[in-house]
Amino acid sequence: THTHTYTNIYIHTHTNGALRRGDWYKTKEILDKGVDWILNEIKVSGLRGRGGAGFPTGMKWGFMNKPSDGRPKYLVVNADEGEPGTCKDREIMRNDPHKLIEGCLVAGRAMGARAAYIYIRGEFYNESSNLQVAINEAYAAGLIGRNACGSGYDFAVFVMRGAGAYICGEETALIESIEGKRKTSSEARVFGCPTTVANVETVAVAPTICRRGGMWFLSFGRERNSGTKLFNISGHINNPCTVEEEMSIPLKELIERHAGGVRGGWDNLLCVIPGGSSTPLIPHHVCDTVLMDFDALIQAQTGLGTAALIVMDKSTDVIRAIARLMEFYKHESCGQCTPCREGVDWMNKMMWRFVKGDAQSAEIDMIWETSKQIEGHTICALGDGAAWPVQGLIRHFRPLMENRIADFKQKQQAHA
Ligand code: SF4
Repeated sequence: THTHTYTNIYIHTHTNGALRRGDWYKTKEILDKGVDWILNEIKVSGLRGRGGAGFPTGMKWGFMNKPSDGRPKYLVVNADEGEPGTCKDREIMRNDPHKLIEGCLVAGRAMGARAAYIYIRGEFYNESSNLQVAINEAYAAGLIGRNACGSGYDFAVFVMRGAGAYICGEETALIESIEGKRKTSSEARVFGCPTTVANVETVAVAPTICRRGGMWFLSFGRERNSGTKLFNISGHINNPCTVEEEMSIPLKELIERHAGGVRGGWDNLLCVIPGGSSTPLIPHHVCDTVLMDFDALIQAQTGLGTAALIVMDKSTDVIRAIARLMEFYKHESCGQCTPCREGVDWMNKMMWRFVKGDAQSAEIDMIWETSKQIEGHTICALGDGAAWPVQGLIRHFRPLMENRIADFKQKQQAHA
C-alpha cells in the first residue's frame, strides 16, 4: 500500500542512516575551504555532467563564480528524469536523498548560489515526498538553511514538482516550468537571475569527490572519462538493475557481471541502445568490445547519454522498437519548432509503414534525409533525440528494412 511504501522510504531517508553511509561527513570543512578549493577538486576529478551532455562540471560551475551584480544566483537540479530506459536519478532520490541535498549545498557553495531548486518529474510522487522528508530533516539538523552546517553560509533547498512532460528535462523548458510558465523552450534564467542547471547524479557525487579528493575520482575510468557512474540495465537480460560501476567498463562485462547476462546467452544478443532512447543503437559486433564511456561510444556513432542500456535479444523486431520510440517523441514534441513538430510526425508515420514493409526502398533514404533535416535544426534537444534512433536503425539494419519491404511486395503480388 501507499502507507507501507512511504514508511519504508521514511526509514531510508532518516538522517542517521545517511550519516552511517558517510553523507554529511566533514561538510563544514568542505564549505570552509571555499569556492576555489571546491571548484579545483571538481576540475581535477574530471567529472563530466551525468545528464547526457557530458560537459566538464568544474568548468560549468566555474562560470557562475563571477562577481555578482547584486542578483542572487541559483542552482537548479534537473530531476526530471524522463528518458525511456533511465531511472538512475530516481534511485538516488529514493534511497539516498541526503546525498543529493548535501550535493546541492556543496555545488551551491561552489557557485555562490543562494538556493537550490530540485525540479522533479511529476510521476516521481514517492520520491518527491521522500526528498521533502529528507530536506525537512536537514533543516531541522541545521545542515541546510541559515548558517548551514555551522559554516556561516545560508542555503535553502526547494522541491518543485513537474507535471509529466518529457520536454521539461530540457534545461530552458525546465526553468520556464519552475517559473510557472508554459513548458516550451527558450533562453531563460530562473527568475531572471544567474542560474546553473545540473543533473541529480552530478550534484550528488560532488561531496564524495571533495571528501576523497579529485585525484581519487580521477583514478577510475580513463582519460577524459573518469570516475564512477550509475548504469541502468534493462530489456532482455536476466537481472535488470541499476549499478554504480567504473566509467569505461566494457559493455559486455557490465551486462554479464551485473545483469546476469543476455537472455539466452551473449550469442542471442541483437543490439543495445547504450544511453537511453535518444542514443543510436549499436549491433552485436560493436557490443563485443565497446567501452561504456563518452568517447568510446561517440566513436561507435552513438553516445553515453544517460547510461541507460536497453538490451534487445534476437527475438526483437528492432524496426518496431524504433517505431515505438518515434511514437513517444511525437507525443512529447511541444510543437514549437517546425522541424521537430512536422519532422518527427513524418518519421513516426514512415516508421510504422516500415514495420509492415509497406514502403518503397527509396523511402529509407527519405527518412534518413528527414532525420538529418531535424538534427541540429531544432530549439531543444528533443529533435536530435528523435532523429538519432532512426539513424542508428538505418546504419545497422538497412538490409532488414529492405528485406521486409521486399517480403511485403511479394505477399501482395501473391495475393494479386
Ligand atoms: Fe519543442 Fe521539439 Fe522544438 Fe524541442 S525540438 S522546442 S520539443 S518542437
